[in-house]
Amino acid sequence: MRKKIVAGNWKMNLNLQEGLALAKELNNALKADKPNCDVVICTPFIHLASVENVLDKSLIGLGAENCADKEKGAYTGEVSAEMVKSTGAQYVILGHSERRQYYGETPEILKEKVLLALKNGLKVIFCIGETLEERESNRQNPVCKAQLEGSVFNLSATEFANIIIAYEPIWAIGTGKTATSEQAEEMHAFIRSTVAEKFGKDVAENTSILYGGSCKASNAPELFAKPNIDGGLIGGAALKCEDFKGIIDAWKK
Ligand code: PEP
Repeated sequence: MRKKIVAGNWKMNLNLQEGLALAKELNNALKADKPNCDVVICTPFIHLASVENVLDKSLIGLGAENCADKEKGAYTGEVSAEMVKSTGAQYVILGHSERRQYYGETPEILKEKVLLALKNGLKVIFCIGETLEERESNRQNPVCKAQLEGSVFNLSATEFANIIIAYEPIWAIGTGKTATSEQAEEMHAFIRSTVAEKFGKDVAENTSILYGGSCKASNAPELFAKPNIDGGLIGGAALKCEDFKGIIDAWKK
């Protein structure tokens, strides 16, 4: 059966000391009150090795927020999938709308990143989602399908088993506007049927599909109660232990 997952995306927040303090606080909180789901925190590159040292890996997984589309070499400032893996991280977020929008990440670039991440034994949290304009013109289904086709439908079914999909409507990210649980469920069901068409029903049933976009402790229980929503990718509410734990605890309701 597919996994229930709550993953945090710290983005470009928290310096090293602040990040370490949050990781320790979360680790202690989950040690005292064990989660009912997989928990992952995705941090800036420079935090990874230090945060890895303070996490109980049976409770919290660790991921990066990006990796390079090249294996190694003269790419100043880039961080390879192999480097991410060498910190002890097990996950990487790829295809986040902020990377697509602000850093020009195309489906082709993302396809390379996904292949390198998988080659290096990382699980990929692959983000897809439509803009407000696309939603208003009812194009969310073809847009999300094209994002999958462009970067992860080239994989074999075995490789695809290491992909976690995060549906993140761009209009809901950091805006305080959450998709309704019905809107989210409708998209998640569509995404699962698209995966089933490509890889078969078994693969689709085993794929975790997370919702992201202004998810908080107050709306997580309703979202997570939907049959095709397997958890959340959390931005703003992952930056405080209490807020993030509140979302993790939604799986206990
Ligand atoms: C995100 O960027 O992945 C995200 C879901 O952000 P927020 O929770 O802040 O909307």
